[in-house]
Order: sequence, then structure tokens, then C-alpha cells
Amino acid sequence: MRIINHGGRAGLERAGHWLDVEIASDGWFTSDPMAVYARWDELLELAREVDFTDAEPVDEAQLLAPVPRPRQIFAVGLNYRAHAAESGLDLPKAPFIFTKFPASVTGPYSTVELPTKTVDFELELVAVIGAQAYRVEAADAWRHVAGLTVGQDLSERELQLSGPAPQQFGLGKSYAGFSPIGPAVVSVDEFDYPDDIEISGFLSGEEVQRTRTSDLVFPVSELVSYLSQILPLLPGDLIFTGTPSGVGWGRRPQRYIGPDDELVSRAEVIGEMRHRFTATAKAARRPR
Ligand code: ZN
Repeated sequence: MRIINHGGRAGLERAGHWLDVEIASDGWFTSDPMAVYARWDELLELAREVDFTDAEPVDEAQLLAPVPRPRQIFAVGLNYRAHAAESGLDLPKAPFIFTKFPASVTGPYSTVELPTKTVDFELELVAVIGAQAYRVEAADAWRHVAGLTVGQDLSERELQLSGPAPQQFGLGKSYAGFSPIGPAVVSVDEFDYPDDIEISGFLSGEEVQRTRTSDLVFPVSELVSYLSQILPLLPGDLIFTGTPSGVGWGRRPQRYIGPDDELVSRAEVIGEMRHRFTATAKAARRPR
């Protein structure tokens, strides 16, 4: 099952066509894209029964973030060996977690404003929580994941790495539009091996990142279990699972996103996002 947000309405997508969830369910579901994650099993049932004969073609210009208002966004740093190495840091012994604030979420084909000249890309697989997870074991964790989507953990490196330890990860990665996700949330059963998905990222045509998620140091199940020991993970919460090597900050010379760039972010089965950028109209101010 593929869930999209088509012009603000929850949609079931199949082969480029979509059905409005509220209409297809005769009002059993509302149109709110956030409402589907707590009732994921019911939605899977609906998806098995619906008739796609009269489905409308998906209009890409209408696609918004499939999870537009997550209550919590967790992100994981240094979760691929080669990325830890390019960052000059050791692998953490437990997952290294930071937050991205929910107001930074944007859709799969939006234009993102660059607040500075040091904005970097971080291609990531994103896990979307379905049934609430609280103190679950890793062996049970996948049952609490509704599906997977593609994300970019866009990062303003100067702010992220400024200040005393432990730095400003949450702010540097939460400018408006810095958490693009999409184009669809794909349910876990659609993947032959949900722990082994190829993801790849391209900046203005050049491949800058590629990995398989089987290379994650802490896989999705361990991340869900680890976080859920501390607090409940709620339906629609996002976990950005970490970026592979190849980020612009780790390159020599460094390669940041400019206003003329197009960033393409791909995952097998899920699909691709495409982002354009604009220079800031008004430089972001912050205390020095
Ligand atoms: Zn990241």
C-alpha cells in the first residue's frame, strides 16, 4: 500500500493513480493525512478491497508531505560507518539521536529557501510509526512501523556545528523546508527485505550518495526499540535513520547546495523526490 497526501487529502496510490481515502472508505476515514497512521491495519484492509477502476491520475504538483504534521521527529547521526569516517568521528556505542522540529517538514517536490551558503544534503530512509511503540523489543519493533519513505535531513552546517558541545543539531537541521519527505509512505509488506533498500541521491545530475540500508549500524528495528525505552513513539512519528557517506561537508572541496541546484532523492520501491532551491530573501540573523 502506498499512501500519499494529494492536495491536503489522504490518498491511496497505485501505478500513478490515486483514490481519496475519505471517499473510498465512505467516510470511515477522514481526509486528514495524519489520521491514517493510528489506523494502519484498517487502512491496509481498505486498500485490499478498493476498486481502482475510476482512480484519478496523480498530479505531482499536488503532492505534499505524506506525514504533514508529525508530533515527533527523531534523527540519527553517524549511523553508517563511511559517514562517521568522513566526519572524523568514532561510531557511537548507542544510537546518537537528535531532533528535527516538525515545522521543518515539506513535501517531495517543493522549493526550499537556503538561509545561508552552507546548506548540505543528507539523503535518508525515513521510518513512519504506525501503532504506538512503548518499551518494545527489537524483535517486535517492525510491527510498530507503518511504512517507509524517503527523506532529506537538510543541514545548515555552520549553525549545526556552532556553540559549545553538544552543538545545535536541532536548530541547524530545522529551518523551514529542511525536512522533506515523500513522495509516498509505502507499507512494510511491500518490501521483500525492508532492512535492505537501496537509496541514492543526486545533486544537479551528479550522484553524490548511494547505499543500501543493510549498511545501517543501528537498523530500523533497533532504533524503534531504543527510542521506545525512553518515551512512547506515536502514530505518524518520523525517524530519519541517518545519512550515508558523500555529504557536501565531508568533501574536499566542500560542496554545498546553491540556488541553481536540483536535489533528487531516490529509494527503490518508494520512488523519488525532487527539490529546487532559492537564495534567501533576507539572511537569517542569529547571535554571534
Ligand atoms: Zn542526518
